[in-house]
Amino acid sequence: MIAPGIRNRLNVVPVEEWPLFKKRPLVIAGPCSAESEEQVLATAAALSASGRVDLFRAGIWKPRTRPGQFEGVGSPGLRWLRRVKDEYGLPVAVEVATERHVYEALKHGVDAVWIGARTSVNPFAMHEIASALKDSDVMVFVKNPVNPDLELWIGALERISRAGITRIAAVHRGFSTWEKCSFRNQPRWQIAVELRQRIPGIGLLCDPSHMGGDRDFIGDLSQKAMDLHYDGLMIESHINPAGALSDRKQQITPVELMKVLGSLVLRSPTTDDPEFLETIEDLRSQIDMYDNLLLDILESRMQVAETIGRYKKEHGITILQSSRWREVKDNAVDKGVRKGLTPEFIQAVLEAIHQESITHQMKVMKEG
Ligand code: PEP
Ligand code: MN
Repeated sequence: MIAPGIRNRLNVVPVEEWPLFKKRPLVIAGPCSAESEEQVLATAAALSASGRVDLFRAGIWKPRTRPGQFEGVGSPGLRWLRRVKDEYGLPVAVEVATERHVYEALKHGVDAVWIGARTSVNPFAMHEIASALKDSDVMVFVKNPVNPDLELWIGALERISRAGITRIAAVHRGFSTWEKCSFRNQPRWQIAVELRQRIPGIGLLCDPSHMGGDRDFIGDLSQKAMDLHYDGLMIESHINPAGALSDRKQQITPVELMKVLGSLVLRSPTTDDPEFLETIEDLRSQIDMYDNLLLDILESRMQVAETIGRYKKEHGITILQSSRWREVKDNAVDKGVRKGLTPEFIQAVLEAIHQESITHQMKVMKEG
């Protein structure tokens, strides 16, 4: 178990050094599910002809949220993938969720496996999969668990690493949420960014198809991933999305995929240009100054909260007064919006500050 905040180093090879890597971003594409031999081969033919796809994906065992949906074609699909590999020279990947899936996939010569969000959440399943993969030379992609738990994601990657696999990458597909959100899964980008800080050198891909849940979001989410310097993208592409048996709304044709990839703007994370470096350094010191100011202001605000806490205690008054809190929040949202801040941001900041204020007031209430 790694304590939060401590850097951990897995023995992972950076994606740019993997034999299949040609250029940024690494592209994994293919249908959500293998549905028929014709569909798999037609999709692979188009993707291979583009020359821009590094790894072909197709799910054959599909973890569906509700029973009764298409659950995949199972092991026969592995022979179709073998044909993709032999006839188009494209390396192939499938999703594995059990030990048996791993053995079947390895037996049919798959080049890579990915572990889905409903599996990476489960340490028992991860342990079983890692043991079955032991010392094989496949590439392993680990999607984030369904819930926003960074430790669980790191734990899943560690289990694969301990099985002796060195070509491991994380795939960020967002987190399930009950709250309404325009995306199928909430991105929570900071979790993936933190993952990369905790495991320096770990490959990081984005799966904008499952994150957005709609083909219209794929372009913007992919660009955002590039701006955060992700190494690659996993995008669902189907020869005929309208007829897809799973995830119909989020699949795009190979031609549409090429449009998405063609319009990505790739920016470099570093430069030697002295003028740029000087300007950036100056701007960063301004950011540091404002961050320090924010901390000083928060400290003062909490001191006032504690004084209020003591005063309320002397007078036997409860900590939380809902009407007052609502008023504070509404006023701040109005003001913040006029300053160009989003209401969601102001609400989130205020709620965090309010929670911290309550903690400080509780502390003084409990005193002697
Ligand atoms: C998939 O890649 O088809 C899949 C099921 O993804 P996720 O685990 O991200 O839902
Ligand atoms: Mn899918």
